[in-house]
Amino acid sequence: MHFNKAPMKNLLMFILSTLPYTVSSETITLNPNTQLQGEFIQGGLIRGKTLANNRIFLDEKPIRTTPEGQFAFGFGRDATKTSTFSIIASSGEKLSHTLKVQSRDYKLQKVNGVPQKTVTPPKSVLGRIKKETQLVKSARKTDSNATDFLSTFQWPLIGPITGVYGSQRIYNGTPKRPHYGLDIAAPVGTIVKAPTDVTITLVHQNMYYSGGTLIMDHGYGISSTFIHLDEVLVKVGDKIKKGDIVAKVGSKGRSTGPHLDWRINWFGVRLDPALIMPDMPTTKR
Ligand SMILES: [Zn+2]
Repeated sequence: MHFNKAPMKNLLMFILSTLPYTVSSETITLNPNTQLQGEFIQGGLIRGKTLANNRIFLDEKPIRTTPEGQFAFGFGRDATKTSTFSIIASSGEKLSHTLKVQSRDYKLQKVNGVPQKTVTPPKSVLGRIKKETQLVKSARKTDSNATDFLSTFQWPLIGPITGVYGSQRIYNGTPKRPHYGLDIAAPVGTIVKAPTDVTITLVHQNMYYSGGTLIMDHGYGISSTFIHLDEVLVKVGDKIKKGDIVAKVGSKGRSTGPHLDWRINWFGVRLDPALIMPDMPTTKR
């Protein structure tokens, strides 16, 4: 796509045709050929486009682009206040931009009533936990050529939001790591759908902390993880269409009641699903 002749018109077409628009998200035009769109805040997923031959970097680390020059990256829960985004054109010319990343205040959430063995696991299960953590980590390293991360995400299920990204958790009185998911409450067995077209990269019916666990690839390092599932209904390698059924809600692992816990990652960086979604519909579909 070339922007030289009618940059404003093309920019508008780019926003309307390529990327979902949400009220709070922002489009930053770095030069006539490069735009970034998303929420420039801790947990934010940024999607963008540049010329196909440009090379791009976030804080000096290269970001792979699609053959059309599209890409994604994100800011973690505790991302620093600024990041440097650089573009190296095919001519060798380098442009660097400072991106301001808004900080967030995270709430403290006391969660009582989870199985005590998931707060202080016995030594006998530490090996199992380590192995399961490795499986999740390696699935999130997937760097495929799928471009589903560019499409509009749909809610995997409709229900009240009972847990948010980033909150500092105290389980049965013991401070633990922050919560990185968006929790949506629903009865056990409620159907859960794929948020975009995806390829399944991890299926586990009962991990120690996370219960039934499903990881889906959206391409270029963007993945979705569903946890505490009662049952996963797909297999590794399956290609699933947006809106197709992938799992059933459960309450397995470190959980106090049935809900879907949805996480989005850019490789190992944990992002906030709520930032890319429209408001949760109030009526059930
Ligand atoms: Zn959760």
